[in-house]
Amino acid sequence: MVTTPAAAALLANHPAVRTRIPYDKHGAESGIAGMVSLIGRLRNANYDAAYFAQGSIRSAAIGFAARIGRRVGFDTSAGRLLYTERIAHRKDEHHAVRLWRLAAGNSAALTADAMRPQLFPGASEREKVDRLLRDVPRDGAKLLALAPGSIWGTKRWPHFPALASRLAPLYRLITVGGAGDAPLAQEIASAAGVERIVDATGKLSLLESAELLRRCAALVTNDSAPLHLASAMGTPTVAIFGPTVPAFGFGPLAPRRAIAEVMTLNCRPCSSHGPQTCPLGHFKCMKDLDAQQVLDQVLALTA
Ligand code: SF4
Repeated sequence: MVTTPAAAALLANHPAVRTRIPYDKHGAESGIAGMVSLIGRLRNANYDAAYFAQGSIRSAAIGFAARIGRRVGFDTSAGRLLYTERIAHRKDEHHAVRLWRLAAGNSAALTADAMRPQLFPGASEREKVDRLLRDVPRDGAKLLALAPGSIWGTKRWPHFPALASRLAPLYRLITVGGAGDAPLAQEIASAAGVERIVDATGKLSLLESAELLRRCAALVTNDSAPLHLASAMGTPTVAIFGPTVPAFGFGPLAPRRAIAEVMTLNCRPCSSHGPQTCPLGHFKCMKDLDAQQVLDQVLALTA
């Protein structure tokens, strides 16, 4: 697997991945020298085939220059002219299905289990999470995770604090996300009471976060990375969609899941990622999704 450095760490312990090749194209390996170095590593490894989940011209050119004979990618990718085989990228499929077809071909049988991503936290991830939870009172309350962040402004549901204040009597809440999500976690702690919250934002790697989510009764998340970590760990998930929709192909795949969204807005979806601010100014896709609705979905999922 050729991945970003962060994704390489996420794939640690994965039994299906023999070699992880981190490629820091925006950092230490940016530019032509980094590309040439990666091409050399791939060429020396003598791979028979490459599957391009990431469809840039740069990735395709690296595979071509590395003399990988069979190069398989999506027919909509920017680098498609450099592939030897092109697989249909169907808009109406979940992205996991698209990736399955990319690797296994159109005729391969697809099961729900095969579709769901998998991650394998190891001993170090378990120890890190043990340490994080060591001082949490053992009062019998189950853990429930909240992921209030997203790099896209309109994907951030503004009612997490209101939801947290209602969930706090029922669960031990844990806020998850990156260091940049700490202010959101503080707002949630202020609403729910700091003694009912464990703030894990900025404290865990992606794989450690997956281990933490494995231990939670459920996750409430925006359309962002924790949604997919929970899918991989089988954690029941309430996924909140505003400017985007699950039909884009990135909805939750956990066995128990629910979608929270406002169904009556004609402006949804308004962008493939979610703009930083609402182009119409009212931001109803998120503001009109009230905390009680999401609470009801959490309770139904964890009953
Ligand atoms: S235009 Fe509609 S979907 Fe887009 S951010 Fe605004 S309310 Fe949400």
